[in-house]
Amino acid sequence: AIPPKPITSGRDPRFAPTLYARVGIAGSWTLDVYRQHGGYQALTRAFALGPDGVIDEVKKSGLRGRGGAGFPTGLKWSFMPLNDGRQHYVVCNADESEPGSFKDRYLLSEDPHQLIEGMIIAAYAMRASVGYIYIRGEYVLAAERMNAAIREAEAAGLLGDNIQGSGFSMRLVVHRGAGAYICGEETALMNSLEGLRANPRLKPPFPAAAGVYGLPTTINNVETFCAAAQIVRYGWEWHANMGTEKSKGNKLFQLSGPVARPGVYELPLGTTFRELIYDWGGGPLEDIKAIIPGGSSCPMMPYTDAILDTPMDYESVAAQGSMLGTGGVTLVPKADCIVNATWNLVRFYAHESCGKCTPCREGISGWMTRMYEKLVRGGGEPRDVDLILDMSDNIAGKSFCALADACLGPVVSSVKLFREEYDALASTGKPMYPARRRWKDA
Ligand code: NAD
Repeated sequence: AIPPKPITSGRDPRFAPTLYARVGIAGSWTLDVYRQHGGYQALTRAFALGPDGVIDEVKKSGLRGRGGAGFPTGLKWSFMPLNDGRQHYVVCNADESEPGSFKDRYLLSEDPHQLIEGMIIAAYAMRASVGYIYIRGEYVLAAERMNAAIREAEAAGLLGDNIQGSGFSMRLVVHRGAGAYICGEETALMNSLEGLRANPRLKPPFPAAAGVYGLPTTINNVETFCAAAQIVRYGWEWHANMGTEKSKGNKLFQLSGPVARPGVYELPLGTTFRELIYDWGGGPLEDIKAIIPGGSSCPMMPYTDAILDTPMDYESVAAQGSMLGTGGVTLVPKADCIVNATWNLVRFYAHESCGKCTPCREGISGWMTRMYEKLVRGGGEPRDVDLILDMSDNIAGKSFCALADACLGPVVSSVKLFREEYDALASTGKPMYPARRRWKDA
């Protein structure tokens, strides 16, 4: 296939999306439309490359996991045992629940065949014959469209026995969650898939060693599988030529908060926050004081020129003390009380804690939530702010999974950046920025 012209800059007129190229086209979720746009060409190429050739292609492309952690995808795939005679699984983590993240939703509902193609290619490379797509319960349309697309693919001989005469067979199953954020943690997801309570498991062992039903498993995010399909279609060089030295390729960035054009933008990694917010998003609609760069788990950053000019890649955002995460960029308005906004996030994590380990159950769901409630309700004392930092210090790194640490991202960063707002509320009982009516018709 002829690759689309490389995406080199958000402002570049040669900008050519691939992951979202079909989103918005009538009937984009059907096999016919997907095929009209070159769909399933990658699968044909994958069969020509062979399983090891596919893993090599993904490795050389520099693709890193798009669920948030950015782990090298080809390396992860190469952890799967070869020809051990056991059942292998590929699992798609479609439990997108991170506040500020909403890219996978449209990949699932608008372009399900792209994900199916990516998963067949991944399964073929990793010698898996069963794939599960774990979709969060709230994504009803996505689950319906995925199921319909799987039926279409089966009828067309793209799933099932001896796909396209390759000798490779695969079944794909949609599994719907019931609306719990913790199910997006990959080991909790596997427990949920097996019908168990969604408590995380210890890592290691990593899923490639002991995954679903204790068998070799690889779990990737929706966008990662879709990117793999595009990489096999256009070749690793195409992907490796976009982005930065260590963060290659294109990525779906999500923009939310008071901005003229919120939404999902497919841009090369390394595009700056300024380009996303101003050139693509049309600029903020009011004064902004902080950016959450990659979904709510990532520490807040101040809204300064230095941050706006920071490239959105894994290394540059980490160098600013935060994380690229899912690329879900949220703008925090200046006129919002930061303590109240953070309490909103703390309540989210407290509600979503699985309750398995003490630091998260008692620390986040108990102490932290009550401290914030006390402050926001005007009953705080000056020492409460240091107590929040002290509690954070005692919880950090001591919970069973990443959920408690994720909650501490916004907590600790907001205290450090906006200490004066916390102190004012704690000592006077009154917020520096009182609650306001947001919507004209509210
Ligand atoms: P992680 O770094 O522990 O793991 C990332 C992936 O790499 C996993 O699949 C893991 O199995 C694999 N991995 C890591 N080290 C490995 C090793 N040594 N050997 C083999 N495999 C290895 O991160 P995580 O806890 O899976 O994810 C954290 C990220 O998830 C955060 O950065 C956050 O941004 C993101 N997140 C996303 C959502 C969402 O809705 N998409 C929700 C919450 C959090």
